[in-house]
Amino acid sequence: MIFKPENSVNQKVLLADNMGVELYLKREDKIHPFVSGNKYRKLKYNLIEAEKLGFKTLLTFGGAFSNHIAAVASAGNALGFKTVGIIRGEEVEDKIYDNATLSFAKDCGMQFKFVSRDVYRDKTSESFVHSLEQEFNDFYLIPEGGTNGLAIKGCEEILTPNDKHFDYICCSVGTGGTISGIVNCSKPSQQVFGFPALKGGFLQQDISKFVIQNNWKLIGNYHFGGYAKINEELISFINRFKKMQGIPLDPVYTGKMMFGIFDLIQKGYFKKNSKILAIHTGGLQGVSGMNTVLKKKNLSIIE
Ligand SMILES: *Cc1c(COP(=O)(O)O)cnc(C)c1O
Repeated sequence: MIFKPENSVNQKVLLADNMGVELYLKREDKIHPFVSGNKYRKLKYNLIEAEKLGFKTLLTFGGAFSNHIAAVASAGNALGFKTVGIIRGEEVEDKIYDNATLSFAKDCGMQFKFVSRDVYRDKTSESFVHSLEQEFNDFYLIPEGGTNGLAIKGCEEILTPNDKHFDYICCSVGTGGTISGIVNCSKPSQQVFGFPALKGGFLQQDISKFVIQNNWKLIGNYHFGGYAKINEELISFINRFKKMQGIPLDPVYTGKMMFGIFDLIQKGYFKKNSKILAIHTGGLQGVSGMNTVLKKKNLSIIE
């Protein structure tokens, strides 16, 4: 088996004694180097379904640094599917080999179609999907970010019976699929905190549609200005965290979540003596792409 969900163990995060809480990190990033963390969980039942229905091709959508694009390309390659990626931004077409995510996906055999930001925004329209059917024939469509009912079913397997004793579960939020699965498999007495990686008021509603209980909350002050926006403070936090804990974080999702958790612990936000489980949703393939951008801007890089 190329995927190793058994590698996802809870690792203790070292905190100063006076912090008053215990923090563990569930290492979903260890499941696979490219189909990492929640992307494995979200794809699992979709891939089973695609195979069951006899599809030979997977088609999906994403930006030029997308963890989801890397995951679909890699999983498709491993399991014998053709893959098609509809990529946001026509300008990246000439820069595939400057971009670690796209060059990796291409090496996995993914075929790309680059579209303008306007077309991309409209990608779920009937007419656009119809044009894709004309161009690529029969495909199993996986939505942007991979979120659908089967993805949430996969994310309901992130927590195990051993995780029952945690008071809080924390995860990063993009489209909200992952937190929805986690909420659905949490105990009603546990509190689930989501840390959005982007600005936007739509998430609350999206998640409400998928969850079966109300023991969750979004903590919206740690997006650092928006999706994939970062600053020196975040970079130095990620580098310090890796040095002290031996655990790499990604700058788009898990770094922001962990920054938020540390800040909230320092502010006494969590109950005294409580146990917190944070989910390392992976995303480490995106670090080298981010570093290329940081170097161009003469900023510090992620070590
Ligand atoms: C995609 C991704 C997320 C967001 O997951 P959603 O289900 O879209 O909310 C979080 N962390 C990492 C590392 C991701 O790649």
